[in-house]
Amino acid sequence: MSTTKVLEQLSEEQQQEKESLNLFLSTQTVIREALEKLEYSNELFELLKEPIRMLTVRIPVKMDDGSVKIFTGFRSQHNDAVGPTKGGVRFHPEVNEEEVKALSIWMSLKCGIADLPYGGGKGGIICDPRNMSFGELERLSRGYVRAISQIVGPTKDIPAPDVYTNSQIMAWMMDEYSRLREFDSPGFITGKPLVLGGSQGRETATARGVTICIEEAVKKKGIDLQGARIIVQGFGNAGSFLAKFMHDAGAKVIGISDAHGALYDPEGLDIDYLLDKRDSFGTVTNLFTNVISNQELLEKECDILVPAAISNQITVQNAHHIKASIVVEAANGPTTLEATKILDERGVLLVPDILASAGGVTVSYFEWVQNNQGYYWSEEEVADKLRKVMVDSFETIYQTSQAHEVDMRLAAYMVGIRKIAEASRFRGWV
Ligand code: NAD
Repeated sequence: MSTTKVLEQLSEEQQQEKESLNLFLSTQTVIREALEKLEYSNELFELLKEPIRMLTVRIPVKMDDGSVKIFTGFRSQHNDAVGPTKGGVRFHPEVNEEEVKALSIWMSLKCGIADLPYGGGKGGIICDPRNMSFGELERLSRGYVRAISQIVGPTKDIPAPDVYTNSQIMAWMMDEYSRLREFDSPGFITGKPLVLGGSQGRETATARGVTICIEEAVKKKGIDLQGARIIVQGFGNAGSFLAKFMHDAGAKVIGISDAHGALYDPEGLDIDYLLDKRDSFGTVTNLFTNVISNQELLEKECDILVPAAISNQITVQNAHHIKASIVVEAANGPTTLEATKILDERGVLLVPDILASAGGVTVSYFEWVQNNQGYYWSEEEVADKLRKVMVDSFETIYQTSQAHEVDMRLAAYMVGIRKIAEASRFRGWV
């Protein structure tokens, strides 16, 4: 059945699932294209088009008012031919199975791009942590680990933070896993607090990686980063640190946003002030009255646009109105495939998510290595190692896109899928 037919059969109420299904099917489309370009067999596509394992769990949590609420969670493992699977856990009301599956495939691609010894994994729980107490969040995090404990572990599948999860949640999850196994297991999860075996530079890793991609992209486009106008959608872990790094590098951050709206000032925003005022969920615009919508912000005049919030933000509806000459995807899946094509035809350099946001998983890998060896690196060592990975990855993908005359997204898929394809072949799976 064609993609359009599948989508038509879904009802209006399933809009979010529909968008996630669209993301998932688009991912499969690009994987097929990448494998064809690399002249791999159709068996490989059949193997890689879906995760090898998907677990759905129901998690009972005692709420503060004495009631019991049952939450639904997922853990998807895309492919473990290269090594253990790896990927974050998202707490969000709109989490669904298709989204988690797509995110786990993208993790495989990111690990392939950064040449890490992992396959991709991803998890999520349908919940709204903004409306939950600290105690409820702790019980939910621990319940999730108990529910998925059979399929995760330092040499099986290693979780990490993602949207609306943080180092505190990682600490509870690590503690629960260590209690279940009855030994200390820092390598079970990454993104931990420093005192529990976290890595220097993990918190800012995704934003650092995006920053390095921006530095490389402006060189290709002949734009001077000093004074370049930047808009960042999303002011959470990825977006807020990125805004700070860009501001410190001499660029002019003229727009930022969060779930409530966007702030825009062509003269440049006071990023330090906004960072100081934002809450732990990356919300700051609720303190202002002169707020515009996220969609308006995306279409404002700028040199570099960085979607760093949620998926499906640049679509056929607005791709023609994007004014930036460089789009760097810090978020996962912010641009649809159709919009990617429009931007490419318009000469916009799009640095795809699986490259731009690979800094997070790269430093997560560094954290896991440090946990395994029990010896910890300085912030400078982490930053130097990350820079090398990101610069090399950017250049490989840029050169692949030039050599094969394909856009950066397809080039990134080609680079990302190769390692897992080869490992699957050597293992004799296909
Ligand atoms: P976060 O939870 O720290 O912040 C999310 C931000 O997005 C907040 O500012 C929130 O207000 C905003 N937001 C939420 N819903 C929105 C909406 N409907 N419209 C506009 N803004 C909205 O999350 P994060 O860790 O910064 O992740 C952001 C994106 O980056 C996600 O797509 C995530 O998958 C991706 N990413 C993050 C990391 C990481 O290490 N943090 C790594 C790779 C990719």
